[in-house]
Amino acid sequence: MSQRIYFDNAATTPLLPEVIQTIHEIAGTIYGNPSSIHREGVTAKNLIEESRRILSNYLHTSPAQVFFTSCGTESNNMIIKSAIKDHHVKTIISSPIEHSCVLNAINQYATENNVQVIYLEPNGYGLIDIQELERQLDQCQHPVLVSLMHTNNELGSTISLEEISTICKSKNALFHSDTVQSIGLYDLDVETLQIDFISGSAHKFFGPKGIGFVYIKNPVATKPLLYGGSQERNLRAGTENIIGIAALAKALELSTIHREQRFNHLLQLNQYFRTSLINSNLKITFNTHEYQFNPKILNVYFENQPGLELILMNLDIHGIAVSAGSACSSGTEKSSHVIEYIRPGSLGKSIRFSFSHLNTFEEIDYCMNVLKKLLSK
Ligand code: PLP
Repeated sequence: MSQRIYFDNAATTPLLPEVIQTIHEIAGTIYGNPSSIHREGVTAKNLIEESRRILSNYLHTSPAQVFFTSCGTESNNMIIKSAIKDHHVKTIISSPIEHSCVLNAINQYATENNVQVIYLEPNGYGLIDIQELERQLDQCQHPVLVSLMHTNNELGSTISLEEISTICKSKNALFHSDTVQSIGLYDLDVETLQIDFISGSAHKFFGPKGIGFVYIKNPVATKPLLYGGSQERNLRAGTENIIGIAALAKALELSTIHREQRFNHLLQLNQYFRTSLINSNLKITFNTHEYQFNPKILNVYFENQPGLELILMNLDIHGIAVSAGSACSSGTEKSSHVIEYIRPGSLGKSIRFSFSHLNTFEEIDYCMNVLKKLLSK
């Protein structure tokens, strides 16, 4: 193949042409400060509010409950801090394989505020035991926050938000889900689901980097992470990233229009790849659950391989971009805490393949051939 094959869509996605066009249009025409009261300012403000309407429609909620942030990391930090400082939670129940921005925020704010943290024990696919969650909710000190991501960014395994939310409501617990990997691919009706907080980041659904959002069910109770001006109804100070906000809305609008089509294509690609791997003579096991999974991700454990650093490099040389895990931990000496948790001591033997609707079956065939060549040596 002469073209590059991009199988690292959980790390980030490319900008779609329509999103690039929106960025060009806004950058060239709308420059007012949204806080100014003249026409230029009002035009910028209207753009933000129209984008907020698109976002709140997607989430089936009111525009008053969604706020733009700089990224998924900021959104998750804001939520954890608010649960502790504003909702006075005494316990946080989470999982050891959440994204590092959730784990590090919990660690920091819980330590500073003497909050108890209970980590559930996920199984080999990263899924938690519902009965264990119920048991912990019965025993822990309330108020309590349950923080569990929808799709695990490394494994692709995906929880049922409905199931967890129902338990949380029945036990009077707040529920936060990091939905950064599922926004755009799933229909997230936050009001029916009765979730208290979710987070999102545009660069995971074909929008630009540096723009994210948070949904807060009860924003009145929330104090800001950053202090300054009154932007985002006093919840997120700082002159708004209007180009990013408009591009996020455009990307989300496209995701909504094409959601089912994209989801089905991903499902077919994922299943095709799974079957090709099973039918090959490679010794592999899947780290992604067979049924409860987000079709954009397939994480594969390659047995009897001394270390995949070289394999990843070789795949890159053959034109294929994949990664061993989270983009935040790759490229550093420290390996993935997720893989280390589910397969202790097996570091460097798992590869995350993550797809988008732009990928094809031919690309999977080509990747399979390269893998066979590299790994059967
Ligand atoms: N949460 C999850 C599940 C992610 O995959 C990521 C990014 O990799 C983040 C949070 C952080 O998002 P951002 O890169 O926008 O800070």
